Parts: sequence; structure tokens; C-alpha cells
Amino acid sequence: MTTLFTAEQINARIHQLASEIDASYPSGAPLHLVAVLKGAFVFLSDLARALAPRPVTLDFIAVSSYGAATKSSGEVRLLKDLDAPLQGRDVIIVEDIVDTGLTLSYLQDVMRARDPKSLRTACLLSKPSRRKVDVQVEYIGFEIEDKFVVGYGLDHAGQFRHLPFIGIQDDLT
Ligand code: 5GP
Repeated sequence: MTTLFTAEQINARIHQLASEIDASYPSGAPLHLVAVLKGAFVFLSDLARALAPRPVTLDFIAVSSYGAATKSSGEVRLLKDLDAPLQGRDVIIVEDIVDTGLTLSYLQDVMRARDPKSLRTACLLSKPSRRKVDVQVEYIGFEIEDKFVVGYGLDHAGQFRHLPFIGIQDDLT
């Protein structure tokens, strides 16, 4: 495993992102963070705490793509829906990584249809060279090359989500 970003680098960048987010909403306005399971759970946990003392509420959504063949068509399956309505709220989708953009594009459509006051997206990582659809992401932690990364919430076959750093698995690249 080769380390791409250390825990300290991730922590520093998340605090910068939180300041950016904080500066772009009215002081004291509540934010509703929607994390995409499972990969975004670590990012959500750190980002939400970095936004304190602003009022923040949290919800979770889970999706899975139908597999390689249909992924290119943008088909995404909703595995777990939100618990609470989005209507009238300032919503930020919190995602681990944007790759082709198909998952986020689907999620943004689903959430926009629920009439939030505003909808923005925060992604810890982005692979711009892989994009298939033009999806808007207002807050990006790091842009990376087309390498398969794990750790800090991201898995390979269910493993490595708990690693405090982000790494590239050498035998996969
Ligand atoms: P997209 O729909 O943008 O192609 O894919 C987004 C999803 O693919 C992410 O939420 C993540 O689950 C998965 N993914 C994309 N690239 C990587 C990667 O480098 N490592 C891991 N672990 N998952 C990835």
C-alpha cells in the first residue's frame, strides 16, 4: 500500500473545506448533511465536527450501481432512502469520491426533486479524467489521478474502510 494522503493531510484539508462551506452560508443557518453510505461515513464524521458550532443535522442514503454493464447507462439502485424530508433545507450531499459522476448525478436528481432550499455537493476526492457526465461539485478535497484508492471510508471488497489514511493498493494499479 502506498500512502497518497496521510491522516494529517486529510484533517487539514477537511478543516479548510469546512471553512469554505461555513463562509458560503449565512452565519448560524442550519445545514443538513446527507452522506452516501458506506464510503462517506468517515468524511461525514470529520466534516460535520469541523462545522461546529453551526447547527447541523445528518441523514444517510445508500445506493449501488447495477454492475459494470449497466453502470455506463447511469443506472443506480436506491438501497436505503433518507429518513427525513429535504423541503426548505440547505442540503449538502457528502460523498467519498466522484469518478464517472453517474452516482452523484443520480443522487442530485433524486434530491432536487424533493424541493430543498439549496443543494450542493462536497466530495473528498475527485478523478476528473474519469468523468462521463458533467456533474457539479461545489466542494472538492483533493483531485487525484485515475488510481484505485482505499482507506478513510473507501473499501476494496469490504476491506480497508477503517484505515485513517488514503492509500493506493499497489497490486491493483
Ligand atoms: P461514479 O458513479 O462517480 O463512477 O462512482 C462513484 C463511486 O464509485 C464511489 O462512491 C465509490 O464507491 C466508487 N469508487 C470510484 N473510484 C473509487 C476508488 O478509487 N476507490 C474506491 N474504493 N471506490 C471508488
